[in-house]
This record gives sequence, C-alpha cells and structure tokens, in this order.
Amino acid sequence: MIRKPFGATGIEVSAIGQGTWDIPESGPRAREAIRAIQRGVELGMTHLDTAEMYGSGRAEELLGEAIRGFPREKLFIASKVLPSNASYAGTIAAARRSIERIGCEYLDLYMLHWPGEHPLEETMRAFDGLLSEGAIRFAGVSNFDTGEMRQATSFLRGAPLACNQVLYNLCERGVEHELLPSAARLGIAIVAYTPFARGKFLRSRAARETIDRIARKHAATRHQVALAFLLRHSNVFAIPKAANAEHAEENARAADLLLDGDDVAAVDAVFPLPAPGPLATL
Ligand code: NAP
Repeated sequence: MIRKPFGATGIEVSAIGQGTWDIPESGPRAREAIRAIQRGVELGMTHLDTAEMYGSGRAEELLGEAIRGFPREKLFIASKVLPSNASYAGTIAAARRSIERIGCEYLDLYMLHWPGEHPLEETMRAFDGLLSEGAIRFAGVSNFDTGEMRQATSFLRGAPLACNQVLYNLCERGVEHELLPSAARLGIAIVAYTPFARGKFLRSRAARETIDRIARKHAATRHQVALAFLLRHSNVFAIPKAANAEHAEENARAADLLLDGDDVAAVDAVFPLPAPGPLATL
C-alpha cells in the first residue's frame, strides 16, 4: 500500500483507508464486515475512519473488535465529534467516549463532523486540550468549505490542522476548483469520503463504457479506476467502505493503479467538472 505525507503533519498515511458508515451492526454480516476491515488492514489500509454518529457508536465498537490483535502503532484511527456535541466540554467528553468504545487508548485523528451550532473557536480549543493531553494526535475538520477551513486553521494552536474530509468522487468533483488547491497550499490533507458515490457512480452508459475501457487497459476494475482518479492528486486520500473482504482486497490493490493522461482526459469527458459552487455534502 502506498503511503503519502498527510498534509503538514510530518507523518505518512495509507493513500487508501477504510470507512465504517452503515456497516452491518450484528449477526453474520457484521462478522463479515469485521473480517473485511481486518483483511484491509493486513493489506495496508490502516487509515480507519469512523464517527460517534455511525450506528450511534456501534460502528466504533465494531471497529474496536476488528483491530484487536493489530499493533496499535501501525493503525491510524480517525473519529469525529457530532456538531451538536462540539462545545468545549462536550467535545472532550465525546472524544473520551469514542476512545472507550474503540478501545484504542488515543485517536490518531479527531474531526468536527461538519460546521455546527457551537462556535468553531470553542471546538478548536477543545481539540487543543485533547492534543496537549495526548488523547488525540491530530485534529481535523469535515465538510468545511475553503473559508471555513482557513478559519479552523486560525483557531487551532497545538498542531496544524491535519485534514478536511469532504465528499469527492467521479460524480462530485466540485472540490477540484478551489478546495483542493487551497488545502495543498495550506498543508491540509484532503480525505475523500463516499469515493464510490455509495455504489452509484456509473450513472450513464457512456460512463460505464469509458470506465470499463480504462479498467480493461490496466487489467483493473471499475472501482479501482474510480479510486485511482481521486488519488492522482498527491494530497488526496480515500476511505471507501467495504463490508465484504473481496471488496476490501480489490480496493487495496487500487493503490498500484496509475492513470495516464489519456485515461484522465477520457474520465473528464464523461464526468465533467461542474461549474464552481458551494461545497457538496451528503
Ligand atoms: P462508498 O465508500 O462510496 O461506497 C460504499 C459501497 O461501495 C458499499 O455498498 C460497498 O459494498 C461498495 N463497495 C466497496 N468496495 C467495492 C468494490 N471493490 N466493488 C464493488 N462494490 C464495492 O460509501 P460511504 O460509506 O458513504 O463512504 C465511505 C466512508 O466515508 C464512510 O463509510 C465513512 O467512513 C466516510 N463518510 C464520511 C462522511 C462525512 O460527512 N465526513 C460522510 C459519508 C461517508 P459492501 O459494503 O458490500 O462491500
């Protein structure tokens, strides 16, 4: 698995990680989802993304089950505080609950899930407190547009803002206009969430034909082409969710796929950049 510098943090993180939103919460499908995460970690997808929101904490518990047995220092565990909990005291309490549910001692990355009702300065002050006590290694944001991202940077004192996790896939390319270049200049990693548009990225026949042609050319799959297109930016990371071990294996191998200029131009033609507009979110 390729690892890349994660913004200005000074550490490297796997280019492809694993999401946990909507993973099955119990029964054989939950066991399969745990096996998929474990297979992904074995193949180097050690950036593990979760949030207190997912399954109201259940995804964090399942992630905790999945990572037992792996050396803690090999993992990069990320979680997020809900905006409704993001007061100073609420953020600190939420981080402690997440650490407890995952059973991971500390979080590598803690993010504000989206901009909300509590003043950003207060949430960032809580992140600073968590950084100084070692409960989190890095702080980030999610669903922040360029202006909001700059503001978060200005409020955080203990470490540079590590990342902004945003919606980015073939059908949602608006971040390429301003957010991606600004983040690269500021040393903030961009983490692409929902990189497969939740399985619905091949919306037209032309799109299917183009992606299939590129996949055949590289002996790759549609999903690998979709990931490789996002990862062509050196500052972009992706966190596909797979509750199936074969899917996890396929996603991990996408890190080896490099698209050439013709491939990128062909994708551009069927998934054109939209006009600049507000940041798209789910
Ligand atoms: P996604 O990763 O775009 O798509 C997941 C779907 O793709 C699942 O149905 C999965 O099936 C399927 N899939 C995965 N790998 C595949 C493969 N190789 N071949 C065929 N199908 C494959 O959707 P997502 O879960 O919305 O996004 C990923 C992660 O981003 C989330 O889990 C979450 O951690 C994060 N996220 C963050 C935010 C935010 O606001 N910050 C919002 C949304 C998501 P199986 O499950 O059956 O394998």
